[in-house]
Amino acid sequence: MNKLATIDLDRRQVTVEEIAPDLRRRFLGGRGINTHLLFHAVDEHTDPLGPGNVLLFGTGLLTGLPWVGASRSSFSAKSPETGHLGDSAGGGHFGAEVRFAGFDHLVLRNRAAEPVYLWVHDGQIELRDARHLEALTLTDTQDAIKHELGDTRVQVAAIGPAGRRCVRWACIMHTMADAWGRTGMGAVMGSKNVWAIAARGGATLPVADPAALAKVTRTHYEQITRSKGFLATSSYGTLVRLNNTRTQGYEGGFNHQRNMTELPGELDADVFLDRYEIAKTACFNCPTHCRHVHEVTLRDGTRRRGGGPEYGGAGGWGSQCGAADWRTILEAWDYCNDMGLDVLSATAYTAWLMELYEKGVIGEADTGGLSLRWGDHDAIMGVLRQTVERRGIGALIAEGWMHAARAIGRGAERFFDHVKGLSIECDDVRGHRAQVLGLATSSRGACHLRSRYTLEEFALPSSVTEALIGVPIPSDAASYHNKEHATVWTENVCALADALGACKFLSKWLSTGLLGVDEFRDAVEAATGMRFTTEELVRVGDRIYNMERLFLVRQGMSRKDDAPPAKFYEPWTHGPRAGTRVEREPFEALLDRYYALRGWDGDGIPTPEALRALGLEREGALVASARGPGRC
Ligand code: SF4
Repeated sequence: MNKLATIDLDRRQVTVEEIAPDLRRRFLGGRGINTHLLFHAVDEHTDPLGPGNVLLFGTGLLTGLPWVGASRSSFSAKSPETGHLGDSAGGGHFGAEVRFAGFDHLVLRNRAAEPVYLWVHDGQIELRDARHLEALTLTDTQDAIKHELGDTRVQVAAIGPAGRRCVRWACIMHTMADAWGRTGMGAVMGSKNVWAIAARGGATLPVADPAALAKVTRTHYEQITRSKGFLATSSYGTLVRLNNTRTQGYEGGFNHQRNMTELPGELDADVFLDRYEIAKTACFNCPTHCRHVHEVTLRDGTRRRGGGPEYGGAGGWGSQCGAADWRTILEAWDYCNDMGLDVLSATAYTAWLMELYEKGVIGEADTGGLSLRWGDHDAIMGVLRQTVERRGIGALIAEGWMHAARAIGRGAERFFDHVKGLSIECDDVRGHRAQVLGLATSSRGACHLRSRYTLEEFALPSSVTEALIGVPIPSDAASYHNKEHATVWTENVCALADALGACKFLSKWLSTGLLGVDEFRDAVEAATGMRFTTEELVRVGDRIYNMERLFLVRQGMSRKDDAPPAKFYEPWTHGPRAGTRVEREPFEALLDRYYALRGWDGDGIPTPEALRALGLEREGALVASARGPGRC
């Protein structure tokens, strides 16, 4: 236990070391320790798809322990999609199984001479030939490895054809629909010639105080299952957002040209549950079972089963690409999962191409003959297939939207909605000021899972938010007042959850009745014996966020990169809040207050004082020497 294994793929050597207590205390695990390792392993010159990049896998401090929903783990690397911080958290059972096999963190260095998969079991790591997996989809890859190892309980994280061909926004998958989706971690794995990691182990994880952990877990289980958040999530999963955003006027449509669409009513979570869902599943030790299993008859008459979908795919191919039927959405969703394409990037890239086609920026000569009309099934599937096969317009977007925009020219980049190179999600949050700020400041680029102040959508009384955050946050989503506190709180708590391996869907990030930092503190103490105050735990999240910021500053980023997409400065076109837009002056003032609260200067650079308070002086000095004076 408490082991970090470094796998030199070139030399086929495995080195195992203990994780130092100080590193544990300062960064806990998962995204936290990954961020520390990544900062020191690469620099601003590292080629994301070259052997000098590292691929880090990290289980959370609590992952695999008998605590509610302790399932999450993170892959991190320099991103081949954005060129800067790459990091993605996923659930399922893989992280827990890696710990049962004896490891907490894996560091993949260099590149294997031939395709391999890693077999992690009972304190050992083997490199095994993977060439026979070349023609397989992701589900078949996982099945083939389990068959080969003779144990269906083996848990596998793998890449599909997209990752093997280094599509820059390829993901890593586990089961039918658990993904480490964003920032192209599948491409990094593919660039290392590692096609999967399989894990199985029989170890019992040590618990500092088993009786206390059992009591804490029982209390947290009851707290979760009594909450309104549980009711919504266990019934609808993330699809609850499909209905919420439609009824509240910010579903986002046609590549964010509109805030609402008039697509037919089929695009509704209840329709999906009634017609297509056949079961629900859950991640390790989670009572919420928010994951759908569906069956659908495709247009060619094939009946198929898949996992999911999540809201990002349903809204992305729905309102953003104009597909008004579940069959198209589910076919596209399943294809991405089979091939290992990140669904959020896939929907954003497709919607972007459709707007370019609508505006005449590209035509069929550019698209490999595809007519990219909104909602067209063949257009959507054609874009996805061309990407995996690296042909037609797919050959361009496989290299990322920035490369494609340069190749297309004609101002194509103006129509891609992103922050720091990562596409924004399908919903349109320009009317929610803390959420806009979080989009702009999110460390891996646009991201709902590390910077979205979700509670802003519930018009909570300020007395409730004051009790939670320490400062009253206006219940009016359109107000800019005090929203910097909401965003900083969100970013720190999300970083903390990712370091613990806790699921945010079970936390106050989603609903005030769920678990908060006090509950995290009790679980950490019972499970590990490590004592923290609530404030100290929040400071760990703060430290992780600042470490990520230093990574970005070293890449040359600053205030100029903390900006919402240009379309957010244009007014909403439809619904009761038509006319709502981001106003430049109040937004810039909000950003100033956010920087001041974080202890960053007016250009968004962490000050030496702020870094000293977090124990990050050494990293600050490294960035200053790379970027010059005034850069930490
Ligand atoms: S709430 Fe859903 S995503 Fe989170 S751990 Fe439970 S089943 Fe997994």
